[in-house]
Amino acid sequence: MINSIINALSNSRSKFSKVFNILSKNKISTQDIELIEEVLLETDIGYDLTKDIIDIIQYSSDDSLDLKNNIKSHLVKMLQGHQELTVKEEKTVILLVGVNGSGKTTTAAKLAKFYCTAGKKVTLVAADTFRAAAVDQLKIWSERVGCRFIFNEKSTEPASVVFNGLESAFAKDDDLVIIDTAGRLHTSENLMKELVKINSVMENRFPQFKRTSLITIDASLGQNSLVQAREFGKICRIDGAILTKLDGTAKGGVVFPLYDQLKIPVSFVGLGEGLDDLRAFNPIKYVDGIIDNK
Ligand code: GDP
Ligand code: MG
Repeated sequence: MINSIINALSNSRSKFSKVFNILSKNKISTQDIELIEEVLLETDIGYDLTKDIIDIIQYSSDDSLDLKNNIKSHLVKMLQGHQELTVKEEKTVILLVGVNGSGKTTTAAKLAKFYCTAGKKVTLVAADTFRAAAVDQLKIWSERVGCRFIFNEKSTEPASVVFNGLESAFAKDDDLVIIDTAGRLHTSENLMKELVKINSVMENRFPQFKRTSLITIDASLGQNSLVQAREFGKICRIDGAILTKLDGTAKGGVVFPLYDQLKIPVSFVGLGEGLDDLRAFNPIKYVDGIIDNK
């Protein structure tokens, strides 16, 4: 089965369907409203947006289509300012950060495939020097994608691997460098310092590359992942998020507090473990995925 955004959002969508089922009753009680609140919170859209939706329910007409449209346009409005992450003429480097297991290595490979398919020359850089297995994992992916791969088995210094990767990509005139890093918790001071070093190599030694830092966020963690993103944002620039493992979770609503509270736009969503299971984030399609038109 091809994973699609519509399939991936089916659990989140069924929560919203439950809300509309309750609303289809003739008379809505206070208990119904409480139940609606509960169901909406289960999608991890957060308290503020739940309150907005309850307000919309109260001022909309009884026509269910009208109500759906009002809720949908409010949700799309929340995702305003969204920009697609395009790689143009300018050389670009994408740094992937995030906690262990959030999908950095898999996403690095998916992004490489995405941009190779778009005709870009891509280099994958294995800057996770903590686990030899991480380097092997990325090497196998790069072979499948058919892109260049840079690693340094002798180095335990991620910033120096990043240096090698950028130097080599520049020499080969590649368009895009994607850097996979080790997973870290924001509480690990050394690892966070290392990220600062990597950023300083990119900024000071390779100003010819446009920098983009993306954080991978495991969607199934819902609101808990917001804490991680906030802490990462304190020590390094975060330009966008990649919401991974959207397949199977009902917590697809987490994109809204990400935009609203942290001002972090979602650039891509991960829909599975395969190379092709990545989609550029599209606010309208996303909202259509969580609220059906029926
Ligand atoms: P890292 O530690 O951040 O590098 O995470 P990995 O890329 O190694 O991924 C951890 C696990 O999550 C692996 O088993 C991946 O196959 C899986 N994974 C990554 N992205 C997705 C996704 O979008 N959907 C699903 N279902 N699994 C994913
Ligand atoms: Mg990894």
